[in-house]
Amino acid sequence: MEVLLRAERLTHVYETRGGEQLRALDCVDLEIGAGEFVAIVGRNGSGKSTLAKHFNALLLPTEGRVLVAGLDTAVPEHLWTVRQMVGMVFQNPDNQIVATTVEEDVAFGPENLGLPPAEIAVRVEEALQAVDMEAYRKHAPHHLSGGQKQRVAIAGVIAMRPRCIVLDEPTAMLDPGGRREVLSTIGRLNREEGHTVVLITHFMEEAAQAGRVVVMEGGRIVLQGPPRQVFQETERLRALHLDIPPVTQLAGRLRAAGWPVPGDALTVEELVEAIAGAWAGRGRGRVAEQGGKTVEQGRLL
Ligand code: ADP
Ligand code: MG
Repeated sequence: MEVLLRAERLTHVYETRGGEQLRALDCVDLEIGAGEFVAIVGRNGSGKSTLAKHFNALLLPTEGRVLVAGLDTAVPEHLWTVRQMVGMVFQNPDNQIVATTVEEDVAFGPENLGLPPAEIAVRVEEALQAVDMEAYRKHAPHHLSGGQKQRVAIAGVIAMRPRCIVLDEPTAMLDPGGRREVLSTIGRLNREEGHTVVLITHFMEEAAQAGRVVVMEGGRIVLQGPPRQVFQETERLRALHLDIPPVTQLAGRLRAAGWPVPGDALTVEELVEAIAGAWAGRGRGRVAEQGGKTVEQGRLL
């Protein structure tokens, strides 16, 4: 697999106003492959946003280096290419709106690339389709819901044809409906359009949808792996002040109560299926085997 983003012993030190030095990233090594969907989690101040800003050269390393498709972000001649390859979406959708209609807003990036109008029109159309917002092209962005605004912001990034999209808590200001909209858009862009996605989030059920979860603490990566594996580390996550996804919590509690469901369930569908199976088994008075001990399911219900 081609490595698209690479941080090598990346250290970032901020000068604070009081003249003190704050080590926000401490020797971080991370590789993200083309086509991956990686979630970055960690409590406030753990260094997530600082790391994200290194991926499109909004910040440059104090020590170590960052490579985007092999290009060192600290080399001034690479800046333009790096910025075009890695698109950023931020938390507040209102701060990202630049125009008075949705289509003008999405066209803003490609216009700045100096593309001919016909090419811009094609890209705007494609991008609006990709986030399922074609019907709103003439609407005023300010009148859209939060979830729709974030989808327009994502379309604006896609219209630049980046290889990678980095989203820094894009759902933090949205209601649950808006969060679902944005997450399913991100998932589709990754699965169907081949975009590499880096999603910073404090919602563990969102992180659970990624292929890999990276956990940060104190400017370092302290845990990473597939969500199923990471979210089994309940004690460690608790010590890091992080939750586990609600579905995984429920699965764990059901298991502790003797239900034969997978303790590492990540999706509602998966858990519902397991419960339905257990329920059907109970009706026929079947007995389930779990972890070496035999449980009469009828007794559990
Ligand atoms: P996160 O996104 O995980 O909340 P950040 O990357 O924003 O973490 O911040 C990491 C650390 O760097 C925090 O201690 C934060 O206060 C500090 N920090 C972030 N931005 C600046 C800045 N511009 N100047 C000084 N310190 C900063
Ligand atoms: Mg942050």
